[in-house]
Amino acid sequence: MRTPRFKAVSRFAVVFSCALILANVQSQAEPDAVALSPALVEAGSPVLIHVDAPATAKIEGDWMGRALEFFPARGGRGWYALAAVDIEAAVGPSTLRISVTVAKGAARDLSHTVEIHAAHYRTGSLTVEPKFMEPDPEELKRIEAEVEIKAKVYAASANEPLWEGNFRAPVTSAPTDSFGTRRMFNGKLASIHKGMDFRARMRTPVRAGNSGVVVLARGLYYEGNCVIIDHGLGLFTLSMHLSKINVREGQHVAKGALLGLSGATGRVTGPHLHWAVRWEGAYLDPAKLLRLNLIAAR
Ligand SMILES: [Zn+2]
Repeated sequence: MRTPRFKAVSRFAVVFSCALILANVQSQAEPDAVALSPALVEAGSPVLIHVDAPATAKIEGDWMGRALEFFPARGGRGWYALAAVDIEAAVGPSTLRISVTVAKGAARDLSHTVEIHAAHYRTGSLTVEPKFMEPDPEELKRIEAEVEIKAKVYAASANEPLWEGNFRAPVTSAPTDSFGTRRMFNGKLASIHKGMDFRARMRTPVRAGNSGVVVLARGLYYEGNCVIIDHGLGLFTLSMHLSKINVREGQHVAKGALLGLSGATGRVTGPHLHWAVRWEGAYLDPAKLLRLNLIAAR
């Protein structure tokens, strides 16, 4: 079931970070009850939070203005929540608030300080067709309409994990440009690169990074032919610039399912696959999601 994402205090404060400084945890009560993966987190990273608590427990938490949604571990012990640090998150200490209530007992406070570390950006430059730098009024209308469409797509997500185990790359070829690069388009600072580019000759099969529901499958101005998958709990992956789309909106897909063929549609300099990861309004480093061990957490 897709449910509205009402928990966000601010879409742009998404700055969910967490770098668990071991020293911090050890200096406080309940040292083993909360574990973060990865233990040291940079801006742009997904973070899996594990809380060691009985299945009957009620767990509440929030981090930098966002509520955490805990779900029971599969097979294993305790509870998990998915969180993340936006690529543009401020560095420094943050408070991860977690409280656990078992039966009718008093709440145990497992809150602690988490340090957010800076991500390391590179700078790159690109030349694209002028129409993508200064769209005309017709194009602007289209762009605005597509902003609305995307906002609706991101406003709801399944209320449980739809993913199965770890994520896989959408293509087998190597990535060519990393997440976080500051990009100059035609000499102007246009954006921070919020995805991962894979070398992909025209018509390379592009596959689902994990199971989920296709929530968008259509042509967009900048993204070109684009497929967005909802993996649940606010986590989405986006495949852009496709030459062909093989799925439809509303379709459930398994990990590895064929989404379409790579191409060069939208704002591109040539054929490639741009693959992006989004959680609660934050863009995350796909490489970090691919490294995240989700086996015990669905
Ligand atoms: Zn890209």
